[in-house]
Amino acid sequence: MANPERQCCACRQVHPKGELLRFVLGPNRLPVLDLRDKLPGRGAYLCPRRACIRKGLQPKGVPRALEAKPPEQSAEELRIEALDGLERLLREQLGHAHRFGAVVWGSDRVTDALSAGQADWVLIAVDAAQRTVTDMCSRAGGDRVFRAPAKSELGGVLGPAEVGVATVTHPRMADKIQALAVRWNRLREENGDGQG
Ligand SMILES: [Zn+2]
Repeated sequence: MANPERQCCACRQVHPKGELLRFVLGPNRLPVLDLRDKLPGRGAYLCPRRACIRKGLQPKGVPRALEAKPPEQSAEELRIEALDGLERLLREQLGHAHRFGAVVWGSDRVTDALSAGQADWVLIAVDAAQRTVTDMCSRAGGDRVFRAPAKSELGGVLGPAEVGVATVTHPRMADKIQALAVRWNRLREENGDGQG
């Protein structure tokens, strides 16, 4: 499957496009964060890391790549905006996949989906028990496990009161949700409450 790569305007490393923050030129020649990857025009990309956001908002980074003015937000404001926006999109896209019948939840059913090759990553609520995390990391592989909003929030999207573990079985939806989860996890790890 095509997985285009883009260069971060700050550290100059190349990463899959879906794992980077995309900016486009917006109104008043200001850069706009495009979390849905939908806005038209040339994009400029940054790693979802505090250091790259800080450096990338300097005139030589995103503003120069887009011929834009420097953004009005600080790097930290932008990081929080991206974190909140990605969390909202993660819930929205999970809800969409759920209505499509493409979300499986609960440790046993997620394990079955992994074994059957119907899924290849796992979302685990940030407040799930550590043994759940350890268990899922051994089943899916540590780099295939992503933290997700709290159990009650996943439950709010999927129906039961609380959901600790979930995955998505529709390949295209799974890719989209995984890309949101990767960015959300990287940004969140630097909040100080992440799993490092
Ligand atoms: Zn970077």
